[in-house]
Amino acid sequence: MILEPTSMNPPDFTEVKQLLATPKDIIIFGHRNPDGDAIGSSLGLKHYLQKSGHAVKVLFPSDYPANFGWMKEVDDCLIYDHDEKRCTEVIEKAEIAFFLDFNSLSRIDKMGVLAKDVETKINIDHHLDPDYFADYLWWKHEASSTCEMVYKFIVKLGDEHKIDTTIGECLFTGLITDTGSFKFATNPDVYTICASLKQIGVDDRLIQQRLFQNQDEKHLRILGHALSQRMQIFPEFRTGLIYLSRKDFDHFNIQRGDTEGIVNYLLSLQNVRMAIFVTQQPNIIKLSLRSKGQFSVQQIAAKYFNGGGHHNASGGYMHAGLGVVLDKIKALLPEYQDELNDDSLFPE
Ligand code: 5GP
Ligand code: MN
Repeated sequence: MILEPTSMNPPDFTEVKQLLATPKDIIIFGHRNPDGDAIGSSLGLKHYLQKSGHAVKVLFPSDYPANFGWMKEVDDCLIYDHDEKRCTEVIEKAEIAFFLDFNSLSRIDKMGVLAKDVETKINIDHHLDPDYFADYLWWKHEASSTCEMVYKFIVKLGDEHKIDTTIGECLFTGLITDTGSFKFATNPDVYTICASLKQIGVDDRLIQQRLFQNQDEKHLRILGHALSQRMQIFPEFRTGLIYLSRKDFDHFNIQRGDTEGIVNYLLSLQNVRMAIFVTQQPNIIKLSLRSKGQFSVQQIAAKYFNGGGHHNASGGYMHAGLGVVLDKIKALLPEYQDELNDDSLFPE
């Protein structure tokens, strides 16, 4: 059953509400390299479900960045890369699985195969082009974040009163991170939800401080290096590119989360309409793409880099050498030259 095949239909959570009426063994999956929205929505939903008497575990394929370490019970999340056996056991005994902030089982790697056998699968997500793998899909690409959707999900189940500061801190986190601290992908509900959360006592200033004023020196050194040594601007394509090589990773001892946000600096340039950030990780080249206005990076991520995401923020990967990937990017830019130079797509 599909809860909301298009954004026109109001979601119907009647059956899900019935399923959740008695305590269940529930698992919640977030995607590989979980970000603030994946972690916040998973933990926010977890705390809510626990309050309703369910036994809940959150599972991620890979570890979360250190600046989310303050979130309540984040250390109770299971990481498949670290504990394959335990993850398998937990998946095997689960009655319900939630899939939050991703739209394809490939985003949870090997766990995707195991998860297929869970009796009831519920997918809540705001990315474009979902795979229809779940029994219940609530998909809303206009939503700022999955945290916004989880908030509404709880409200729809009639449990708004159960949202406390613990749940609220988690959900506020994804609202902050997926909107770049309210710079993009916002909508009126974002502010209504944030107002409600602040009303019950969620300290948003403290969350922003924990997320963005808590870095070590290395973080700024990496940023400095990326901007001064690894940035290329292609004015004719209105595109900016930054890459970090394997050597850069070794030299700066770059860890998960250390490069978060670097891509956005490119968009601060007036002349740049598309931003591309490339990292050479141990077995993979990872790409982050961002754009302004009506230019879609989602198409490029899907067509060339095995990825996807949102209109203005997408990601992907390639199994290839760094030079090959950089050449491929440069070779595809002419295809988008007209669009990138079409002022009508970029209202100012
Ligand atoms: P980021 O560049 O911050 O890693 O990701 C930007 C957006 O693209 C996020 O919404 C993320 O979920 C999505 N995304 C990132 N990497 C991939 C990928 O490999 N495949 C798909 N389908 N989406 C991705
Ligand atoms: Mn998200």
